Parts: sequence; C-alpha cells; structure tokens
Amino acid sequence: MSQTMTPDHALATAADNPYRTHACGSLGTEQVGSRVRVAGWVHARRDHGGVYFFDLRDRSGLVQVVANPEQSQAFLAASKLGSEHVVSVAGTLRPRPKGTENPKIPTGGVEIAAEDITLLNTAKVLPFEVDSAAGVSEETRLKYRFLDLRSQRMRDNLKLRHRVGAIVRRELDALGFWEVETPILTKATPEGARDFLVPCRLRPGTFYALPQSPQIFKQILMASGVEKYYQLARAFRDEDLRADRQPEHTQIDLEMSFVQEKDIHAVVERFLKAVFKEAMGEDLETPFARIEYENLMRRYGSDKADLRYGFEIMDLTGLFKDSGFKVFGEAARAGGVVRAIAASHEFSRADIDKLTELVKGLGLKGLAWIKWTAAGPESPIVKFLKPEEIAGVEKAAGAKPGTVVFFAADKAQVAAPALGALRKELIAKLKPAPLKPWSFYWVLHFPLLEWEPEEKRWTFTHNPFTAPLAEDMPKLDSDPGNIRSHQYDLVLNGTELASGSVRNHRADIQRKILSLMAYSPEEQEEKFGLLLNALEHGAPPHGGIALGFDRLIAILRGEDSIREVIAFPKTQKGTDPLSEAPGPVGAKQLKELHIKLDLPPQPAKPA
Ligand code: ASP
Repeated sequence: MSQTMTPDHALATAADNPYRTHACGSLGTEQVGSRVRVAGWVHARRDHGGVYFFDLRDRSGLVQVVANPEQSQAFLAASKLGSEHVVSVAGTLRPRPKGTENPKIPTGGVEIAAEDITLLNTAKVLPFEVDSAAGVSEETRLKYRFLDLRSQRMRDNLKLRHRVGAIVRRELDALGFWEVETPILTKATPEGARDFLVPCRLRPGTFYALPQSPQIFKQILMASGVEKYYQLARAFRDEDLRADRQPEHTQIDLEMSFVQEKDIHAVVERFLKAVFKEAMGEDLETPFARIEYENLMRRYGSDKADLRYGFEIMDLTGLFKDSGFKVFGEAARAGGVVRAIAASHEFSRADIDKLTELVKGLGLKGLAWIKWTAAGPESPIVKFLKPEEIAGVEKAAGAKPGTVVFFAADKAQVAAPALGALRKELIAKLKPAPLKPWSFYWVLHFPLLEWEPEEKRWTFTHNPFTAPLAEDMPKLDSDPGNIRSHQYDLVLNGTELASGSVRNHRADIQRKILSLMAYSPEEQEEKFGLLLNALEHGAPPHGGIALGFDRLIAILRGEDSIREVIAFPKTQKGTDPLSEAPGPVGAKQLKELHIKLDLPPQPAKPA
C-alpha cells in the first residue's frame, strides 16, 4: 500500500497534548536527539538482563522503547507492563546501537530511551495475541473484534477501505454527483431476496422493510431532477447462507439522467482507475473490454468467467452436423450444440470421473473426451468418428501429444454452463499462470427475462426496471425469452463486481414488462406504485449501477472473504458474536409492538 495514503502521522495533535507529541510510526533519524512523547499499546515486551524493551504500537506503527535502571520511574513502570496495556511514554529518541537495527519496520533505526512511563489502562489476559490470530476461530476473533482490529492486517484493510471510499467520493464529486441518503426504514424493494422487516409500533400490524438496495429511491431522485446521484449505501438482504454473503453489505450506488450505457461505464472506469493508481500504484487500462452476454456464454460458459485465463470453449456443432456418432450428430441436428474445451494435462481415470460427475450434476448426460498421445488420438469414442471429424477437432484445439479435449453435446442452455463449470474446475486444478493480474470486462445485453418453471411465469434476470433493447421491443409480445436488455455487469477476475442497467423511464413500458412477469394491475400498484407514479410525472431517461464495495476491497487486499474487510461483520450463520445479535426481546417490548410469537417447537434436548 502506498505510504502517502493516509496521514497517520497527523495522529499527534497539539504540542501540549498530555499523551503524545508524535505518532509511533512517524519517528526516524530526523527526530534523533529530541525529546518525544508517544502513546499506544504495549505490543511485545522483552526483558534483557536488567533492561526492559518493548514495542509501542499506535495506528501508525511501532516504535521500540528501552527502559534502563538509571531511569527508575520508567524502569519500575516497565517492569509491570503486560501485553496491550495502554501507556504514554516520554523520552529521548536515539539511534539503535549498531547491529540491533530492525530493517523490517520503518522506525527500525531508532528507539526511545524512556524517562517517564504513564500507565493509562491495563488489559486482561488476552484470548489471543494481536497479530497472531492465524489459528484462532472466527467466532473468537469476532467476539474480541476490538483486539482483532488492532492487527496490522485488519488495520491495513480498514485503512484501504477508508481510502478507496475517499477516492470514489472525490472522483464522483468532480463529475458533479451529489451524495443523497435514501431511507433505511422503507417499503420492500424487489431485488430478488427476502426483506428484513421492522415492526412499526405506531401503526400496529405494519412493518417497514430494510432496503435491498436504494433502487426505487434513486430512480425517484432522477424523477426529482437530481440528475447525478451516488451513495455508499448499505443494502440488506435476508438471504439463505451462501458462501461469503453478509446480511448487510455496502454498495457504491449511483444513478444518472439523460445517459446511455457507455456514459455510466465511463464513470465507473474513471473512479476505478483512480483507485488502482492511488491505492495500489497500478495503471489500469480503460475503457475495459466489452462482451455481449450471448458471446460470453458461448465462449466461456459463464456470465462471470475469469478471463485472466484462456481455455476458450470451441463450438464444433458444424463439424458434427452429419456425424454418425449418435450423441454428437443428434445434438447437432436437433438444434443443440457440440462444444468442447481443451487442456494439456495428464488426467487420471479418477480425475476424469470427477469431471464427469461435475457436468452430470449440471445436466449433461456424460463427458466425452479424446486424448492425444504420441500414437495419435485415443478415446472410447474415436472408433465412432470419421477421420475428418477427428482432424477437425485436432485442428480447432491445436491438439498435440498431451492435449485432452472434453465435449458437451446438448442444448446450448445445458452445454454452456456445464462447460463453464468444467473450465473453472480445470483452471483451479491446473493452476495456469494468469495472462494478466486484473481482468475487468463489461458484460452487455443480458436477457431481460427468464422463465420461472415452478411459478410458471417470466421473471427478471437482474432487475425488474431494466429497459429492453429498442430493436427487441417487438418481442415483448411474441418472444419474451429472447429479449436482450440494457442490463450490464462488470466482472473482475471472475467475480461479479457491479451490476446495473438503463431503466424504463416510461410507465407504459414498465407496466407491460411487469405484466409479463405476471403482476396483476393491483399488484403493480401495490408493489411498484410509488415508482410508476414518479415515472408518470416526467421522469427523464436514466440508468445506473451498484458496485460491491466490500467485494472490491477484499479483492484489492487479496482477502478471500468480505468479512475481513468489514469492521463488524456477521458470521456465516448471520450472527454477531460481539453484540450477540440477533437476540430475543422481552415480553414488554413485544407487547408494545403488538407481536405474539409463534415459535417452532424446540428440538428435544438429548437425555
Ligand atoms: N439495484 C441494483 C443492485 O443492487 C443495482 C442497479 O441496477 O443499479 O444490484
């Protein structure tokens, strides 16, 4: 992380501050010989034959303190210090004796010869040492989050988070965006998850919902003439436990009027470029690549494929149009596809079985393969294929001895995601070197609707307010499943980082799409009335995006989980060990809210 990022040295305040004149991490050869006062936490104390050494830590870093017997007050105080006691230390800064410098820390060339040590607070025996949380359970780390956050790792995470937020705000301000807060106590917003509800005491039987996103309000802000809105917004989604989800997360949320997709993309590219430059010292190439959803699915089998790697999917449907090999020929002739992916690796029988299980779980009937050896192509299916078919595969794959080609023959909707999952697995297993460190790209023109087989209706793929492409409008009546939309995602290294769209600013079109999703006119009024009403009173064309702020920071810090970049996250069970939320509430409070509980029976206690 760049050193100039945060003025931690400004931690020390006025010259007559009783606690400190300097920040620990700011001390260096420049101050040698001067009297300094620092304050912080005792990081590690060492007793070296009649001399006490300890590292004092504040947010800016560490500095070594030495207490000699000649300074009796400081020496006696130092003898009683324990880990994480809070002290203020005055003394003279001197160079460390030759050979004892510590090049690993910025203050490693100096130390404070303590003259006065004031104990400001003690600390109980610690459940774990600061900076040694590696083997500690997440439950314990979160219960003692205040200790965990004192570590270098977590400080750097919070510091970067703060810094990135500051850069984004600055860039958006420069572009004329206004930060507007939208309500937390609101009505349900449809983002496809469950709402968290808050009972309303003053109107018994009614509930606020916490926003799944500021979506409706930011659109209403466009109808209000705000034109450029943003917010580092909290979004609440009561989702089932999925890997690395939090019930509340932070989005860089924005919306703009009188724009096309590319204007919105340019805003995001601009602030990300500044973030990468200033916080990471890296030059991002912009504009980012753009790829149509359909094209991406065909070539990589996933709408968030990690394009740091190759492994492109080949479409061989044409090659097998007349194939006598039933599995391929029938798929190719019946409107399906034959697609394949090649990898160079010595796959064992067990490896291939595992890959077969994976794609079968995704609906493929099996996983055909051909392996090239010095003697030529080998596989149980080779005998069914014509020489020109094998030659065609060999050419498409650039096959050499060691190459294995895996095939998927099915409907495109089945083959594409199965090969996408196979590609992901091959990358995880073969661990090829990435072609580049950061792979950003925009996915454009997602389908507007997808069929919900259980409920037998169309539903939105991302957002119910997305506008269809103008040229696909006629399909609203004839072919809803094939309408492309102005919905886009931004993908970074295989993660969906942001999602947004150009919206329907005309109520008639919005109503038509809601009707396709089987919302009756009454339901439309009840659920979306506030937005529709705003659209009907002069809403300008508008669009926007929301970018996962926690996710961005986690990726920048190389953290696997967003829990590591949120100061007070919930566990994967949705609980907070620090505050013990969620917790029961007393009978009095429930009564005030007119709530009677009807809890499921408790599981029987084991005898
Ligand atoms: N509201 C959307 C979301 O939270 C983002 C957007 O379309 O602006 O994912």
